[in-house]
Amino acid sequence: MYTLSRQRELDVLRVLLQEHRGRYRTQLRLLDQPQSQQSPRTLDRSTLEAATSRRLDDIERALHALEHGGYGVCARCVRDIPIDHLARHPAANQCPVCSNARPPAPAEHRHGG
Ligand SMILES: [Zn+2]
Repeated sequence: MYTLSRQRELDVLRVLLQEHRGRYRTQLRLLDQPQSQQSPRTLDRSTLEAATSRRLDDIERALHALEHGGYGVCARCVRDIPIDHLARHPAANQCPVCSNARPPAPAEHRHGG
């Protein structure tokens, strides 16, 4: 159960999330359009498309949680995520403390050798 002031803050974030969703949807639609047949499909484009649709997924999940409860609560420590963190990362599902405390990485990403 949210407190009243928390609820008001979440209302602001809802607007923010909807704006983000609209922007990502537009971006995906533009990426989806066939470019001129002269230029081959570039790797950049599909990378950008994948990244955008992943962000859109995050936004959708956040909006769903906002409607059904559980938004703004850290998935790991189950505390309220500070509102200033949510303002910067509206789709965050972890508080800054937990998202900084990374689990031991199963796979390392290294460039080159
Ligand atoms: Zn946490």
